[in-house]
Amino acid sequence: MSKIITDVVCPFCGTLCDDLEVKVSDDGSKIEEVYNACVIGTEKFLHSQATDRLTVPMKKDDAGEWHETSMNDAVEYTAQMLANAKKPLMYGWSSTSCEAQSIGHEIAELCGAVVDNTATVCHGTTLIAVQDVGVPSCTLGEVKNRADRIIFWGCNPAHAHPRHMSRYSIFPRGFFTGKGHKARKMIVVDPRKTDTAGMADIHMQIEQGRDYELLSALRVAVRGAPLPETVAGIPREIIQDAADTLKSGRFVVIFFGMGVTQSLSKNHNIDMAIMLTKDLNEHTKAAIMPMRGHYNVTGSGEVMGWQFGYPFSIDLSRGFARYNPGDSSSNDLLRRGEVDAVFVLGSDPGAHFPFSSVKKIWDLPSVCVEPHYTPTTAVSKLHVPVAFVGVEVGGCAYRMDAVPIHCRKVAEPPEGVLTDEEFLKLVLARVKEIKGVA
Ligand code: SF4
Repeated sequence: MSKIITDVVCPFCGTLCDDLEVKVSDDGSKIEEVYNACVIGTEKFLHSQATDRLTVPMKKDDAGEWHETSMNDAVEYTAQMLANAKKPLMYGWSSTSCEAQSIGHEIAELCGAVVDNTATVCHGTTLIAVQDVGVPSCTLGEVKNRADRIIFWGCNPAHAHPRHMSRYSIFPRGFFTGKGHKARKMIVVDPRKTDTAGMADIHMQIEQGRDYELLSALRVAVRGAPLPETVAGIPREIIQDAADTLKSGRFVVIFFGMGVTQSLSKNHNIDMAIMLTKDLNEHTKAAIMPMRGHYNVTGSGEVMGWQFGYPFSIDLSRGFARYNPGDSSSNDLLRRGEVDAVFVLGSDPGAHFPFSSVKKIWDLPSVCVEPHYTPTTAVSKLHVPVAFVGVEVGGCAYRMDAVPIHCRKVAEPPEGVLTDEEFLKLVLARVKEIKGVA
């Protein structure tokens, strides 16, 4: 016998689709089918069933050989590493629950660590811009029900957030958007002819790294002031057409991704995009929203905000929270050799950081808490396998529009495999013993 679990949340990307149905065996040991998810989301669930999945902690010896070890030893190694380091880096957090994040932050505070999340290499610039100029935003529900002008700037949801357009931004028929995509206009700004760009009414194939100029030109066009012949490789007629299209809508939403947060000018691009949104609000209703990648990177920023007052790159080594991205961010600290241990949970810096940073993880005492084999587990000294959050354990996650959603458990983890939260609680208890804290 099998059973179907409904209203399941997909723990993969920041869209956090909450309409999945998962068919599982009666005892919850096997996921048989996943309905409604995109191919990436489906794989996330089915991958938990992989027969070659690691279920016991693995430790590297001095000769670089991997050996199985006990969970008690894994907890002891992790606690000793963090408690004895002068300034450990605790990085990741974007693919785990808010509950686990808050326990990890408690350990970080006790150990005088630097806590940082994946925003440091994606939307950290967005967070800095929001601190500079604020943000007029909305929920994805409002996008579905009201938005009729959509910009995708430096992002490619057709591949990175595959159900975003069908659930919220382009195709659905909402309360005031009954004609679905037929009544929506879509503008894409991307130097490449992506699959998303191929669907757009206007594709502005911008010259690489010239987002700030094009954003400024759009602000000029929205105000009706004269433009030069071309800006960032785009003829002024197209810029004016895009500005007029936006002004003629009832509700504009600008979605943007790493193509603009990590190109030249970085946070200043986002300052300008937010100011464009503000300008558009003088003609119609407009909002702006980052396309967050990891399913709970938004939650990580929220939890760090509650606990320390800042959303990423927080240095606790002086006994209080300091925030200085560019100085207290993971890559800067690793490359300058300013951290002496690395703990990674809920992310894969081995795949995404520059080689010079990854080499430092290889050189230092390091622990990676991760259900998969990843480039980070390969360069760490200890790999602790854990349950998949949102598949084998529930927990809170924040969607890209900062709406908290409770992820559901649909299957049992393999015997002996702990959740992130359980592992962190054991480490926290041991760190307290080592530090002599009640
Ligand atoms: S769009 Fe994102 S959240 Fe939705 S099913 Fe696909 S991977 Fe999961």
